[in-house]
Amino acid sequence: MTKEQKQELKSIIQIQILTLTDEITTIQKLLQPIKKDCALDNVAHQSLKQDQNINIQRYEVSKIRLGKLKAAYLRVDTNEYGVCKECEEDINIARLKLIPESQYCISCMNELGL
Ligand SMILES: [Zn+2]
Repeated sequence: MTKEQKQELKSIIQIQILTLTDEITTIQKLLQPIKKDCALDNVAHQSLKQDQNINIQRYEVSKIRLGKLKAAYLRVDTNEYGVCKECEEDINIARLKLIPESQYCISCMNELGL
């Protein structure tokens, strides 16, 4: 991987971190506890709870991804970045641009069922 490619990946990761941080803040605002509202019937309350569960899931997934992206950012300048952990081949640069935190190439990922 060239220096320019690493630089480009770093900016991609930075943008993704910012976007994800924004998203997490937005979800956090939605995650206020549901108040018992007398105006709401049971059905409405149930559906609020369902929305809440979806948001909690999104929140968890985003938090995990954010952690991975931050770790990837620190790894970009090391030799292990962009190298598949399984077969030690270079990971396709197009794949890294889409998913910079990738630690496996596509064929190993499929083989490992990740
Ligand atoms: Zn591989």
